[in-house]
Amino acid sequence: MSCKEDRGTVKVVDGKYKPSGKFHYPAPNTPIKDEKGKLLGITNPRDIVHMHSYGGEAIFFESLGKGKLMATKCENPDCETTGSIYMPFRIFCPDCLTRNKVIDITAKAKKNAIVHSFMITERTGAFNTLPTPIKFVNVEFEGVCTILMGALIRGEPKIGMRVVPIFRTKKPDYTILDLLWVPADWPAKDLPEGYTY
Ligand SMILES: [Zn+2]
Repeated sequence: MSCKEDRGTVKVVDGKYKPSGKFHYPAPNTPIKDEKGKLLGITNPRDIVHMHSYGGEAIFFESLGKGKLMATKCENPDCETTGSIYMPFRIFCPDCLTRNKVIDITAKAKKNAIVHSFMITERTGAFNTLPTPIKFVNVEFEGVCTILMGALIRGEPKIGMRVVPIFRTKKPDYTILDLLWVPADWPAKDLPEGYTY
């Protein structure tokens, strides 16, 4: 039973979300029985379309598809930590709670991002689309006071190695997977499909 053509979508009319199509897909249950055929329970398949509002982070996700990495910076002169740059993108300064300024750190990321630490995992979460083993890297940027978790999609991670971002600029899907990492100087002809420097 598939009605994917009627899959829920959202338009904005007069500043308000206007959903159309289907957002809930029931599917037939199946019984769970023990070895002797006694009923223990049922599976309960459900397919739900979520509406996920990005709010103040929307510019971060939109920029990835344009090959840009946007961070934020506290510019409140009265803040104890004024001038701090945040990547991952923080809408508000955690110290003074004023709204941060959005800044472009693409050039910085291309020039001096390094692997602070990393981990490699064979186990994945639901709906994983990354090839396993997944090489998660904690990326450190010069002058940025936080560390970004990302996935190294080529090569092998080492602490301190230089990495550069690649962006899904051809058909972005507006998730964090529009941003991946490769070792510095990796050949542009060997990037995953749809990704560019
Ligand atoms: Zn602040």
